[in-house]
Amino acid sequence: MPNQEDFFKKVVSHAKEYGFIFPSSEIYDGLAAVYDYGQLGTELKNNIKQYWWRAMVQYHENIVGIDSAIFMHPRIWKASGHVDAFNDPLIDNRDSKKRYRADVLIEDHIAKIEDKINKECDKAHKRFGEAFDRQQFVSTNARVLEHQRQIDEIHSRYSELMNAGDLAGLKQLILDLGIVCPVSGTRNWTDVRQFNLMFSMKGGNIGDRSDDSDTLYLRPETAQGIFVNFLNVQKSGRMKIPFGIAQIGKAFRNEIVARQFIFRMREFEQMEMQFFVRPGTELEWFRHWKEERLRWHLALGIPAEKYRYHDHEKLAHYANAATDIEFEFPFGFKELEGIHSRTDFDLSRHSEFSGKKLQYFDSELGESYTPYVIETSIGVDRTFLAIFSHALRDEVLPDGSVRTLLSLPPVLAPYKAAVLPLVKKDGMPEKARQIIDTLKYDFMLQYDEKDAVGRRYRRQDAIGTPYCITVDSDTLTDDTVTVRDRDTMQQQRIPIQGLSDFLHQHIQPIHVE
Ligand code: ATP
Repeated sequence: MPNQEDFFKKVVSHAKEYGFIFPSSEIYDGLAAVYDYGQLGTELKNNIKQYWWRAMVQYHENIVGIDSAIFMHPRIWKASGHVDAFNDPLIDNRDSKKRYRADVLIEDHIAKIEDKINKECDKAHKRFGEAFDRQQFVSTNARVLEHQRQIDEIHSRYSELMNAGDLAGLKQLILDLGIVCPVSGTRNWTDVRQFNLMFSMKGGNIGDRSDDSDTLYLRPETAQGIFVNFLNVQKSGRMKIPFGIAQIGKAFRNEIVARQFIFRMREFEQMEMQFFVRPGTELEWFRHWKEERLRWHLALGIPAEKYRYHDHEKLAHYANAATDIEFEFPFGFKELEGIHSRTDFDLSRHSEFSGKKLQYFDSELGESYTPYVIETSIGVDRTFLAIFSHALRDEVLPDGSVRTLLSLPPVLAPYKAAVLPLVKKDGMPEKARQIIDTLKYDFMLQYDEKDAVGRRYRRQDAIGTPYCITVDSDTLTDDTVTVRDRDTMQQQRIPIQGLSDFLHQHIQPIHVE
């Protein structure tokens, strides 16, 4: 079993080798934290977006989707709070000249102490075997209790400082904890400064003349495009509360430290849905979406223990409940999706800043109000990384050989099937092409006739194709083919006529109660 770092390297190199993800501008030595999706990555990414769009828009009568422009009026970002408060605390190490997020340095330090607790547990587990009770161990072992006490102390000091925006205090905490730069190994830190994550540009003649500035921003989230279209959609679509507006689109953030491949990028894609509800019902709807969204993930067939909720104790000023769905990436559990109860903050602020009343007349209640909002917000790229890294593994076969397998959920796989003539003669290629011609309107298929069939199977395993359809000499007389399952490698014989039904049945997401 490779260690996590080696495994993550394999994820990155596999993604490149097979045409899923390339570093951006590679022939010019790349552009940090920007990536291009290749021919197979684009298919997988489109399938993820389609799976989300269907689940949110197609399967919900009361949710509609929009596609708002990336450029928006600059005052939108004043109203949303992004101009003044979309900041990360930044710190530089004077010796290595490396830049870090102060909060991440502290969180990494806490994670190291958590690691020590886990190591103590692993040791004890080995010693006690089956009888090991983790709960009891962590609540009684002196060393673990001391580690936990340190974590709690750092946590409470850190939360206070973050809440108060106390930058000098954050620097002091970094010094007090003895945190060193991972590159230079020194504590020669600069002061902590706030750094706004929005990319801005000079818009020339399309900027905001009333503010005497021509600054335009690249949107850091898609949500605001939904809020400012609330009335347009509600009125033109005759939408009745509760209802949702969904959107998939690019977002841009000038992340200070952008590592971990497509986990944290400067240009990425979000799938967001804002659900407008009656004031007072928002926490009920928050719970509903929290469960519903986890079900969406689980329907891909990835084991439930790879996901967990992380409820926020510290809430943004506009939120009255928030949770993350975290996924166990190769580098540990990290946020994949956020579900937030945003109150009436956004609509009220846009009313205030635009001077337009953004209210809804509720005919059942006979009154107008500013709706409350539940938001579900998930990154396309993070979902890609979660699914891709979970699916990739090396498998030792009974004959001792190793195959690289990408067991993607069939509904998301770039190709649903490969059609392979057993040999390149005797009419088999023509028969294979005929099969493709009848199925290609419904399914993405690949034709491959090069090399021995075993090698072709391996190539399909490595790109996640769930089924290989092989045309052999019997096919020419009885119109049946062999269908090989990627994961089990089992083969079955089925009539060509039944292929379409077979594929339809086997590429659905699973049903989760
Ligand atoms: P983080 O704490 O990891 O920076 P966030 O809390 O700022 O994330 P949100 O603003 O809630 O993230 O954005 C919603 C979703 O968008 C995230 O759950 C994540 O999947 C995705 N996302 C956010 N920032 C990035 C990024 N830089 N690169 C890729 N995906 C991102």
